[in-house]
Amino acid sequence: MPPKLCALCNTSRPILKRPKTGQQICKSCFFLVFETEVHNTITESQLFQSGDRVAIGASGGKDSTVLAHIMKTLNDRYNYGLDLFLLSIDEGITGYRDDSLETVKQNQKEYNLPLKILSYSELYGWTMDDIVAQVGRKNNCTFCGVFRRQALDRGAAMLGVDHIVTGHNADDVAETVLMNIMRGDIARLGRCTAICTQGEDTIKRSKPFKYTYEKEIVMYAYFKKLTYFSTECIYSPDAYRGHARTFLKDLEAARPSAIIDIIHSGEAFEIRDEVKRGQKLQQTCKRCGYMSSNDLCKACTLLEGLERGMANAGITDKGVKQLNAAGPTPDNLRTIPFFQMNTVGNSGPSPSPNPWPLDSGPSG
Ligand code: SF4
Ligand code: ZN
Ligand code: ZN
Repeated sequence: MPPKLCALCNTSRPILKRPKTGQQICKSCFFLVFETEVHNTITESQLFQSGDRVAIGASGGKDSTVLAHIMKTLNDRYNYGLDLFLLSIDEGITGYRDDSLETVKQNQKEYNLPLKILSYSELYGWTMDDIVAQVGRKNNCTFCGVFRRQALDRGAAMLGVDHIVTGHNADDVAETVLMNIMRGDIARLGRCTAICTQGEDTIKRSKPFKYTYEKEIVMYAYFKKLTYFSTECIYSPDAYRGHARTFLKDLEAARPSAIIDIIHSGEAFEIRDEVKRGQKLQQTCKRCGYMSSNDLCKACTLLEGLERGMANAGITDKGVKQLNAAGPTPDNLRTIPFFQMNTVGNSGPSPSPNPWPLDSGPSG
């Protein structure tokens, strides 16, 4: 019997089974099809214009490392005409972010892209280690998520960029669709599948990997021998999201198209006008100027709670009441400052033997 050939080029021997389609293909066809699909997503959504300054949100993890590699590759191959930057947020998590930032510094050298690192301590005066010491491990991810979102925008503003791209992949988007359904959060459900979001005063944000499977990102990083950091955060991540993730992985094992199907379902929902009308209008935070749907942005409220020893101030209704009852904000309270420029650095490890032999590919 003649040896089986790659389902795409029909010339080379296949070395992997593609998780998204189940096709058995060769390495160079995998690279090409993976890169071309991202290119198609970018062009079909008209994400960029020539001359755009684009920051890649880089954590040192697999998604953002592959994104940096792909953005550079496609920008060169198809002459997008983009000025690319790496932007990293240092949450101040000892034994996790300090190590992953070393990986970003290594990527910075490999891809020869300018790197900006902005830290929570620089911006908020608190590291995540300090925050966890004060609030414990229950709401730590709420602080971290709110602070990261604003830090990314501020870091991007410091770089003078027009657009931030993040490594959110198809699995992340499908998981968010499921979570918004399970929480009944219709407003977020309506927004979460958008490839690109932009408020009036905000920097554009997009997800070029919106349709890219996590398993394929891992394979791409592996076969390209990219340097990335794969350790989990030491502070327990959101347990509910973890259940949604496990559920999604079970669905994917039974039917690989489940991930794309859920995204398509999310895209097809239409939000009723009453729901849209019920959404708060965006304004700017009276204290720090960041976009907000209230007088104070969420980060300023959370920061005030930390500073005044009322950690639930921005989290529970009871916390808000406590803060209001505690009287006016003291004048000497630490607030979020205006931006300043920062710069570069270096080092990290890489992967080995093929963990996806054809007979036991990740899609099972
Ligand atoms: Fe921050 Fe929570 Fe993510 Fe850790 S798991 S980086 S604390 S959001
Ligand atoms: Zn091939
Ligand atoms: Zn604010």
